[in-house]
This record gives sequence, C-alpha cells and structure tokens, in this order.
Amino acid sequence: MRRRIEVDADKPAVLMPAAVLNEVFAHAREADPEECCGLITGTDAEPYRAVVRCRNDMTRHHQRDPVTYPRDGRQGFYMNEQDYLRAEDEAEARGERITCVYHSHVDAGAYFSEMDQDFAGEPLFPFPDAHHLVVSVVGGQVVGQGLFRGHAEGFVGRAVAHEPT
Ligand SMILES: [Zn+2]
Repeated sequence: MRRRIEVDADKPAVLMPAAVLNEVFAHAREADPEECCGLITGTDAEPYRAVVRCRNDMTRHHQRDPVTYPRDGRQGFYMNEQDYLRAEDEAEARGERITCVYHSHVDAGAYFSEMDQDFAGEPLFPFPDAHHLVVSVVGGQVVGQGLFRGHAEGFVGRAVAHEPT
C-alpha cells in the first residue's frame, strides 16, 4: 500500500533559478482554488530553465464523467494533452527536454500523494524521467514546495530553494 511522501528535511535542498520558481508560484496563486499544472524544460547542465503553463482539464473531465473522474480541479490535475505535446515540441526545438512536471495542492501540504505516485508511475505517463515539483497553496499564498524524484525504492522528496543570485 502506497503512502504519501513528504519532503526529507535531512537532505539538502534542490536549487532552482528564482525566475523559474516565481513563475510556478504565480501560476499556483492564479489557479487557486484549483490546482495548477505545467512543465519545466531544460538541459542536463541546466535542468530548470523555462516554465510552460498547461491547462488543468480535471474539472472538465469531472463534469463530463464523474464516475471515472471523481475529483474536480480543486483536488486533482489532468494536464491538457495539446498543451504538453506542444511544450514538448517547442522544448525539443530549443535543444531542451521536459525535466520536471509541476502542480499545486490547494489547502494541503507539498507532499507527493498516493494519487500523484499512481499518476507518475502509470505506463502511459508521458515523462517517466521527469522530476515532480509540488507547490502548496494555503489561503491564496504559496507556503511550501517540494521536489520528488523516482528511485528504485520509490520517490524521494527534497526541499527546493532559490539559487543564490
Ligand atoms: Zn498532487
């Protein structure tokens, strides 16, 4: 049985450029009370270079088919397929790839939920090597963030901090 994975406070924080983190935080605040989702693109040398916002279609799917999609966009995300396919093409054209998938939790912590793990581990998940950035929005403000990476033994959570400028 899976359990939610929390940030491991004993591990050093992963550093991301302030501009990238601030763009993800802005998206998370604007999407509130729904979850936001999107992608971060980059290279091996510079994994976190650019943020591409994607539409969260979970509410649309929930309204159409509430049995298959019991949650709406406040408690889940379903990344718009056209948005992520276009992001992938555009990243490739810049010599980049999708390095990270991000989404927010509204009025919940920056942990990697059971549902997040199922989604990331699904055979059809389009970015199996990507990291996962989760941002916590409480009362309309970003209050925490964590980066979750897959390993042989499952996902490990790390704190995320701004790169010194
Ligand atoms: Zn989640």
